[in-house]
Amino acid sequence: MITENAAQTLDWGRKWAQSLQTGDVIALYGDLGAGKTTLVKGIVEALTSVQSNEVVSPTFSYLNIYEGKVPLYHFDLYRLEGAQEFLDKGFLDFFEGEGICLIEWPDRIQNLLPKNTLHITLSYLEEETRRIHVTKS
Ligand code: ADP
Ligand code: MG
Repeated sequence: MITENAAQTLDWGRKWAQSLQTGDVIALYGDLGAGKTTLVKGIVEALTSVQSNEVVSPTFSYLNIYEGKVPLYHFDLYRLEGAQEFLDKGFLDFFEGEGICLIEWPDRIQNLLPKNTLHITLSYLEEETRRIHVTKS
């Protein structure tokens, strides 16, 4: 999928969210500014009553929770020291729960990702053009 601006990525996220199920773990790859958080905004809007402008990347706290019919667990692991810190914080439990996990910078915990993780890669093509690619592991 190619999007031509942030609104299109948000919209793609809203629609794609309809296919998600409880327990899904979604790993979001891409450089800073690729659009990972923008995509999460769309998913949060679709599945909770939280507005997209209330969604910010939890860079320092690592985790934000948005309550909806299904809870959404939004991780930003950019500053994580390593997988051990993730384990120490008890975060692994969220992968086993009833919610949906959305993980920015999942490479920090690559070996901890569950088998059925959905991998989404966002690539910067031009100023406002991005490629969104989904694969299942
Ligand atoms: P990340 O979480 O990957 O660091 P963000 O979603 O926070 O990225 O930021 C993406 C930035 O790029 C935003 O400022 C957004 O407005 C801009 N942008 C421009 N075009 C697009 C696009 N097609 N999709 C997503 N974001 C875009
Ligand atoms: Mg982000």
